[in-house]
Amino acid sequence: MRAVELPAIGAPLRLTRLPIPEPGPGEVRVRVEACGVCGSDVFLQKGGFGNAVPLPIIPGHEAAGVVDALGDGVTEVAVGDQVALYYITTPPDDPWAARGRPNISPAVRRMGVDVDGAFAEYVLRPPAALIRPRAPVPPAVLAVLTDAVATPLHGLKRVARLQAGETLVVLGVGGLGSNAVQLGKAFGARVIAVTRSERKLRLARELGADEVIPAEDGDPVAAVKALTGGHGPEVVIQCVGSAAVDEQAIAMGGPGGRVVLIGSSLDQFRARAVDIFWRELSVLGSRGFVPDDIRDAIDLYLDGTLAVDHLVESIRPLAEANEALEDLKAGRVFRSVLATN
Ligand SMILES: [Zn+2]
Repeated sequence: MRAVELPAIGAPLRLTRLPIPEPGPGEVRVRVEACGVCGSDVFLQKGGFGNAVPLPIIPGHEAAGVVDALGDGVTEVAVGDQVALYYITTPPDDPWAARGRPNISPAVRRMGVDVDGAFAEYVLRPPAALIRPRAPVPPAVLAVLTDAVATPLHGLKRVARLQAGETLVVLGVGGLGSNAVQLGKAFGARVIAVTRSERKLRLARELGADEVIPAEDGDPVAAVKALTGGHGPEVVIQCVGSAAVDEQAIAMGGPGGRVVLIGSSLDQFRARAVDIFWRELSVLGSRGFVPDDIRDAIDLYLDGTLAVDHLVESIRPLAEANEALEDLKAGRVFRSVLATN
């Protein structure tokens, strides 16, 4: 099969040929149709996941395909089923997974980080990591629903518990924030988007933002407070990997507000305890997503609630994986998708 692998940290990706993997007992071979390329792949290439990554590794954690072959004992799916892939597996007795939170298990095994991923024509997954849509979904769309949409969905629904009628501020309108904007509207919130560049402000408006604030004009915290009665919003979702924006997110949260951090920055931010407890502010981390977030994202798409054109505007063959990463680094695309055929 054709596959794209990262041979070493900091190196370009390379196209290679490998044997088609054979599913063992309890495994499913999926013929990958599409796999999203995301900031985590750039992070992987830079060495952000540390020394435990086995090299060379096939990246790719945002994937969709068709069930191709079943290992012994698999009855949950059938050959030919369309499936979205959940990128995490956990041990059978994992206590976090048992509570519906496999994403925070210390024992997570991540496709495309700890084990080979889906920048390849075939990948092996257990049936628990496969989600069947209730109706057919275009492969590139199904791929991006599993991460670009499921990540902000997890943050807004399961972590911040955003309610209809609340005000949501989205900081950063990229591959994740753009979807936070439209999910906020889908959940019945008033949405204020703060971002750089006229293109992203325009996209935020197209996706339903009630107000948009250019991040580079003056003070975004003051601008948000001016739009929220001087007090700040109920929920802020921080989608930018920047400590300065982390600080803005905490500064603008209203009394009783929830500030969700999903933008991955390794830099330290500063906060004062009094500023957090006077407002009874909750500063919340949101890590990835769980299979139910993928199911919810698929259902919202099939209901016609989600726009996805901006996420699948750039579909490239596997051989152009490096170009897809460069597009992402340069901010030319919100997302790229690699297609295997
Ligand atoms: Zn990702």
